[in-house]
Amino acid sequence: MCGIVAYIRKGSGASSRVIEGLKKLEYRGYDSWGIATVAEESSAPVAVVKKVGKIGSVDSSRVSRALGRDRGVAIGHTRWATHGGITQKNAHPHVDCSGRLAVVHNGIIENYQGFRDRLIKRGHRLLSETDTEIIPHLVEEGMSAGRSFRDAVLEVSRQLEGRSAFVLMDAGSGQIAAVRLGAPLIVGVGKEPGEMYVSSDIAGFLDYTNRVMYIDDGQAAFLHFDGTRPKFFEIAFGESVYKRIVTVDWKRGEVGKSGYDHFLMKEIMEQKHTIADAINQDDKRILEIAGSIRHASVVFLVGSGTAGRVCAAGEYLFSTIAKKHVNAEVASEFRNYKHYLTNKALMIAISQSGETTDVLEVIDIAKPRGAKVLSLLNVFGSTMMRMSDDFLMINAGAEHAVASTKATTAQLSLVTLLAYATAGRLDEGKRLLLNAAAQVNDMLNPRYEEYIKKLARKLKNKHDIMIIGRGVNYPMAEEAAIKLTETSYIHAHGFAGGELKHGPLALVEKGTPCIALIANDDTKAEMLSNAIEVKARGGYVIGVSPENNKIFDYWIRVPDAGNASPIANIIPIQMLGYHLALLRGINPDYPRNLAKSVTVK
Ligand code: GLU
Repeated sequence: MCGIVAYIRKGSGASSRVIEGLKKLEYRGYDSWGIATVAEESSAPVAVVKKVGKIGSVDSSRVSRALGRDRGVAIGHTRWATHGGITQKNAHPHVDCSGRLAVVHNGIIENYQGFRDRLIKRGHRLLSETDTEIIPHLVEEGMSAGRSFRDAVLEVSRQLEGRSAFVLMDAGSGQIAAVRLGAPLIVGVGKEPGEMYVSSDIAGFLDYTNRVMYIDDGQAAFLHFDGTRPKFFEIAFGESVYKRIVTVDWKRGEVGKSGYDHFLMKEIMEQKHTIADAINQDDKRILEIAGSIRHASVVFLVGSGTAGRVCAAGEYLFSTIAKKHVNAEVASEFRNYKHYLTNKALMIAISQSGETTDVLEVIDIAKPRGAKVLSLLNVFGSTMMRMSDDFLMINAGAEHAVASTKATTAQLSLVTLLAYATAGRLDEGKRLLLNAAAQVNDMLNPRYEEYIKKLARKLKNKHDIMIIGRGVNYPMAEEAAIKLTETSYIHAHGFAGGELKHGPLALVEKGTPCIALIANDDTKAEMLSNAIEVKARGGYVIGVSPENNKIFDYWIRVPDAGNASPIANIIPIQMLGYHLALLRGINPDYPRNLAKSVTVK
């Protein structure tokens, strides 16, 4: 979940590049941050600065000054705590007893406790509660026993269980090790001689280089910072592997806030064009993929969180549009269905970051069984892209706010397009989605936002919000609940309209807000009946619908987008979440306890 950036250059002054890179990755984890450099003149070989809070607003030159002159190498980290509270002590980097090794780490070491107990017994001083801190101390022990930095790192790496990645810097031998054990790490080859980057995400260095080398799981890259061009090669646990330099032809898109106060609103507004961008695909490939969907013995759609709700919507879309049964499952629950995976099965995996551990684990289950994996991705070069047999980019551009908006509707657009292509009606699908894109463009205007803001004022002190939908808008009701929960911290519950009377109706009392997502389809009449049931018990009905109805206490007008109704219906809810966050004093971009790229189980 965290962000890692390391940088080596000839000469000195490495820390500012690392700080800049970390600022780009802050969305991955943001409870604390830290940087270590190899100090040029200092009694301790490693200089460290770490702090609780976000790195976004930190003055880079002040941090560089605090670190002092370096020998052209720096490593840095933004943390998303898993082991130990959010404190300065637990922030990375962590240093060994001798003060010459410093580590930054992403993920979890499942078997850390035993190592930690033994290290303490043997007299090591561990200062944090993290699992991470065992790494420099174990390597320190290996080196004291006479092993080289490289051998000691590899020996320790072989013993660590769980999905993680780390970068360890040795001020003594002048090397850094980048070890990938299930979490992403990429090497960037800089333009100047001797200049190298390592990051958990290409975004960490993409402003400076797009030439990369992918470290694979179980591999370690050793980079030297002695001023010569690093001879880099990777060691697959003992064996050297030649690595190609790959040029990444990918633009991250606009990375600033483009005049908006928050990424969330900027990304909501970008949906004016991202829906059309998502379906801007090569027809030939779409038709080929449609063919494999038609011929697969079984098709699974898997994703987590919001992408999981997109998958569930996909199940409805494929059924209605293509009369094709596909199975949607949240990735963390997929295991149960693994026996349906054969070499005739197709898995469509959806993830914005392409790094979601729960989804990667499902791909790990699918591949050895011979199932084909197609990923729908927004981050080029991500782990999922490289693990999949095929992929399609959703073309949404970088999404920074933790709450997904434009990536969600781009995923929905592409899934809808694939459903139409599978039905042999690709052109019709394109027309429908381009029309929806134009309608969304019209909808996203300041007057509309003002109207949503008014509703947010009415809802801001509520403790619970119900959201109902039927058909393809049932998973959208669940998605709406995710969106409102993560932005406003108001408890929101999304369920199928028909399920009201089987339980949730008991919660309705005077003033209980219930949002009804209503499409102009065969579920409309029943949805209106469900809304009446809520109203009859004193509930406050907010209709999200192309048409007004007298039972609505508040009407949010959405375009009549046909089979693209999930896209039209979710956008006002995203906007409502944004304004609820502001009214409740919450930073809409960074909900507490959550991170953008979910790389833990
Ligand atoms: N497990 C480590 C910790 O709790 C790393 C967490 C991360 O990925 O940021 O500090």
